[in-house]
Amino acid sequence: MYRKFTAPLIFNGKDFLEPGLSLVTDETGTIIDITAEEVSDERYEGILMPGMVNCHCHTELSHLKDRIPKHTGLVGFVQQVMQQRFQPQEVKEAAINSAIHEMQQQGIVAVGDICNTSDTVSHKKKSSIAWRNFIEVTGMVESTAAQRMAEAEAVAGAFSEADMVPHAPYSVSPALFHLINEKNRRLISIHNQETPGEDEFLMKGQGDFLKLYEQLGISLYAFNASGKTSLQTWLPYFTHEQPVIAVHNTCTHDEDLQFASASAHAMFYCVCINANLYIEQKLPPIDAFIRNRCTVVLGTDSLASNSQLSILEEMRTVHRYFPHIPLASLLQWATLNGALALDLNHLGSFETGKKPGVLLLRGLENEKIAARTSVERLI
Ligand SMILES: [Zn+2]
Repeated sequence: MYRKFTAPLIFNGKDFLEPGLSLVTDETGTIIDITAEEVSDERYEGILMPGMVNCHCHTELSHLKDRIPKHTGLVGFVQQVMQQRFQPQEVKEAAINSAIHEMQQQGIVAVGDICNTSDTVSHKKKSSIAWRNFIEVTGMVESTAAQRMAEAEAVAGAFSEADMVPHAPYSVSPALFHLINEKNRRLISIHNQETPGEDEFLMKGQGDFLKLYEQLGISLYAFNASGKTSLQTWLPYFTHEQPVIAVHNTCTHDEDLQFASASAHAMFYCVCINANLYIEQKLPPIDAFIRNRCTVVLGTDSLASNSQLSILEEMRTVHRYFPHIPLASLLQWATLNGALALDLNHLGSFETGKKPGVLLLRGLENEKIAARTSVERLI
């Protein structure tokens, strides 16, 4: 049995279609056709759009909701997460379960999820979300690189599919970057240039991160400052033309974006605007992304640094601070670009044969995502 949806506007993942068309799916949601035929079973007021993609989350940290103070700066935030991440297993599992439920309710159909543990495995199996699991590897001490990789591989073994990724440029040694480059030739995700201290640390070996490592009792005697910005230091470690999702980028400059564009990597810049405001009270350089024709995607980051896991809320905040972004661009970041970044080609757009989910977006004001804008899952 086919379902036929009509609304004043249909966004197909890239463009708004001409008025008067209907979207046809089978009962499972596979797109059959977009047709001009008049009769329609289901008429809605609003915008029909594909399901949304959350390119950056840490579902396993959901128990940290409302636990970490705002505006601590990144170093303070990392310390807080390290102190608070250990909670009773049942507390963590209940929080993971409700976070996944929340994302499904919010119209999210795929998630790029950072994992340090296997806590989420059983919950993911039960959910309808498509997961790209990124096993996060950290370790600044060169001599422990092989051991750190082995530990991450043990976590990865619990998942049906997972890729090894570096946590951040300031927390992974060159030796460990080389191991990750050999293990993961498919898709890299990395927290990038989230705080001014990151460039300072990698360029000159100075700043807040030295304090952090001192407090952690980690010796950096073998660390060599590169004299280059963070992005320009770490990107060349990847020699297999892996696509890269660079997350946050709040301190990324035009020269970094141009450096990356000149490389062989497909680059996806993941905006997590609510987390940036939560941790550092900073905005991502969205105008620089547009100026440099970057591919932008959206992420929520974790409930440690966000009040909810909702791509609609991320779009709402982007439009609050960047009202000049065209609605179609913002919706493309939330749908097709995210599916491309996670290499989930059956999602992200209304094309025959795909099964991207069908959402109804309502309550826009002057073509902006506003306070009263809501999303509802139709499929
Ligand atoms: Zn993150």
